Amino acid sequence: MIAKTKVKPTARLIEVFSAIQGEGLNVGTRQIFIRFAICDLRCHFCDSSHTWNAPSVCQIERSPGLRDFEIHSNPIPLSTLIKWVERQNLPFLHDSISLTGGEPLLHAPFLAQFLPEVRSLNLPIYLETGGHRPEQLDMILPYLDSVGMDLKLPSVSGESHWTEHEKFLQICFDANLEIFVKIIVSQRTDPGELERAALLVNGICQDIPIFLQPVTPLAESQKFSQVVVEAPTPNQVLEWQALMKRFVKQVRVIPQTHKMLRQL
Ligand code: SF4
Repeated sequence: MIAKTKVKPTARLIEVFSAIQGEGLNVGTRQIFIRFAICDLRCHFCDSSHTWNAPSVCQIERSPGLRDFEIHSNPIPLSTLIKWVERQNLPFLHDSISLTGGEPLLHAPFLAQFLPEVRSLNLPIYLETGGHRPEQLDMILPYLDSVGMDLKLPSVSGESHWTEHEKFLQICFDANLEIFVKIIVSQRTDPGELERAALLVNGICQDIPIFLQPVTPLAESQKFSQVVVEAPTPNQVLEWQALMKRFVKQVRVIPQTHKMLRQL
């Protein structure tokens, strides 16, 4: 009989650090960020293109907020990541743990083993996701407290995942998670797509908040897309908010505040 070899779970990371959340419903709160490597989307406005592929090393903050990073080789064993998160978790400091990327759900098998253990720290678990992988979401649903789901407008992102977004949001809603939808808007935003997005959310629950996030134009050195992505005008955001509020109760317009605060 051949003995089964147990494969130890590992993940490819970009970084672990403590910072102030700059987007969406949790804006201004202090989080332990676990940024996973690899993304299967290619949004025109992406400010994290360094996460698209798995690097050979990741950077890990020793003391929360001090940016005293150590460099470690990928992939990282589960037990090591738990130790790093425990080290970050000083008393009274953090409001939650943020799973971000890249696309964290590309690591769903790892997360399904990691999250039950990290829950012992008694910090809520918040998932930031492109909202296009409902099957992977199912694998970790019981361990999540809140989800920020990006809804990608084709006119702005170049990505189109309407069916997956709807399924994803419905799963979160049915599981009673705290959830919000984030939509990046630029001058090229098609208002017809905003209406479609508002109807999609309304079809699940009109109480789910939507955050319209005016795009932060990328620095020249970060540009990888041929498509020019410019922040919307003041009148555009006023019109779009009014349009969406016909269908959804809360439509808030908030730019990326962590860039203003020079957080990571
Ligand atoms: S989902 Fe996020 S990380 Fe992936 S390409 Fe889009 S903006 Fe970048």
